[in-house]
Amino acid sequence: MALELPENVVISKLDALASWCRKNSLWPMPFATACCGIELMATGASKHDLARFGAEVFRFSPRQCDLMIVAGRVVMKMLPVLQRIWSQMHEPKWCISMGACASTGGVFDTYSVVQGIDRFLPVDMYVPGCPPRPEQLIQSIIDLQDKIQREGTISGREFTTAARQQPKRALVEVAAASQLDSARNPVF
Ligand code: SF4
Repeated sequence: MALELPENVVISKLDALASWCRKNSLWPMPFATACCGIELMATGASKHDLARFGAEVFRFSPRQCDLMIVAGRVVMKMLPVLQRIWSQMHEPKWCISMGACASTGGVFDTYSVVQGIDRFLPVDMYVPGCPPRPEQLIQSIIDLQDKIQREGTISGREFTTAARQQPKRALVEVAAASQLDSARNPVF
């Protein structure tokens, strides 16, 4: 027998409800080191109205944030600072890599620049461009919201040791590329 519910009653799963709340109240932690930071600031301006997506409250204390946005190149000397701030942010937390430099090192193919922050941090979204436009960053926030809703946060699967020990995407690609290279140029 079908159960008749009053019009003002909604049934949902607790996980879906928590994810819905979390995705609509992201608190960004800006880690802007270079020119991409200017576009990050523009994204927070009134013209783009980040408040539409519940992510307009930038905070400069990691303990008040759950979304790290790395905008610009990260040099090796700065890396421990980035890792310290990331570890001070509470779970669940997410990371957006904004721009070519943060994602791959960009044009700075040198020993002193980190060639992709995903070698050291779990990155959820990559924003291509040099620099990306604010619209691209907003799109990545929307995509991240979809991901949060899809994957949920209450069960905490993403924080298990097994999930965290999975190889980072960039390292997998590097390994695949070197395998391809050795297949093309075998050493006898
Ligand atoms: S991706 Fe381009 S705009 Fe962004 S920090 Fe690097 S050089 Fe600057």
